[in-house]
Amino acid sequence: MIKTVSQTAGCDGCPMQRFKENFISPQLPNPARDLNRLVIAEAPGEEESRVGQPLVGDAGREFNSLLEKARIPRDGLTIINCINCRPRKNAFPTDSKARKYISKEAAQIAVDHCLKHHVDPIIRKRHWDRVDLLGVKSVRLVAKIKQGRMSELRGRSIDIKRAGLPSVKGMPIYHPSYLMRWGKSKKRVTVNDLKADA
Ligand code: SF4
Repeated sequence: MIKTVSQTAGCDGCPMQRFKENFISPQLPNPARDLNRLVIAEAPGEEESRVGQPLVGDAGREFNSLLEKARIPRDGLTIINCINCRPRKNAFPTDSKARKYISKEAAQIAVDHCLKHHVDPIIRKRHWDRVDLLGVKSVRLVAKIKQGRMSELRGRSIDIKRAGLPSVKGMPIYHPSYLMRWGKSKKRVTVNDLKADA
């Protein structure tokens, strides 16, 4: 059963809780195919919110296609988003177009809250072989890398050091929704980034 954010204890105190959206639980791996690999995307969209799973809409199908080309079984992955309820009009809270529904200050509190209460516990859960950061928001928010374009960051192994958590190897990857707007060359490099050692 899909819970709303109002029914999710980790959301208590988050400024986004008042929108009463569905809470999107992480995708957990099939134990028989567990790759010890964590994927952190940006935010759920309409389909993710309806189904209650991360990365299952158009971007998720694009991601599945990239995984297939890289010969990585999706059911071996753990998948979560930086924020785990659908933002209004799909506007990520820290984006300027989200000012219509949330202030800049409240947006930062919401993102920090979601990372602290939903993402950090997953990172802490085990010693991941690798964390794939899908899209520039994941890179900025999770790895706290403030400089550089995705075209410069993608495919380069980084150390993710979050307060109170062990350092873990990460890999910035183009977000599949971005790749949907581009031709084959960026998809090809993304398949290689997914296959490369972190
Ligand atoms: S942003 Fe995260 S913590 Fe806040 S209500 Fe949504 S899922 Fe919960």
